[in-house]
Amino acid sequence: MLKSFKPTWMVESIYQITPEQLRNENIKAVLTDLDNTLIAWNNPEATEETIEWIELMKENNINVIILSNNRRKRVEKVASILELEFVPNALKPFQRGFNKALNEFDLTKDEVLMVGDQIITDIKGANNAGIESVLVKPILDSDAWNTRLNRFVELKIMTYLINKNPDMKWRGSLHDRERTK
Ligand SMILES: [Mg+2]
Repeated sequence: MLKSFKPTWMVESIYQITPEQLRNENIKAVLTDLDNTLIAWNNPEATEETIEWIELMKENNINVIILSNNRRKRVEKVASILELEFVPNALKPFQRGFNKALNEFDLTKDEVLMVGDQIITDIKGANNAGIESVLVKPILDSDAWNTRLNRFVELKIMTYLINKNPDMKWRGSLHDRERTK
């Protein structure tokens, strides 16, 4: 029960995921949530950390694609500043946006990883689509009004999952533990 909300990995921040870790998992592209995963939800400006991480991925030929439920205008604005590909209005946890990204960028499920801060959208969506996932801690403790109810439900689900799976712990990298699935 509730297994469809379980992430493959839990890493504190997207910045801790390195090209080397991704190569070890044969990952060619990272699908990433936008708000509170890549940047703060209430600020369109990327931090120095975000910019450096994206540069590092580009230097290593790892495609970073924003997969966001947010509207085109907001996603496009950030994506153009960061020079990233993007899929807006993704409707996570439904599979549609995931499939769109795979088709559009000619990738297979095994070649991508979904990174996000919400289990009921990002992680459940990845599991629905048969893609491995990394749950990260939200960049900000606060959320947009429409995310707050989700957080309450997520806390309940996470408490249940962690009780059932003591190996579910925050790690510093993908290498800190074996995948469980
Ligand atoms: Mg998010």
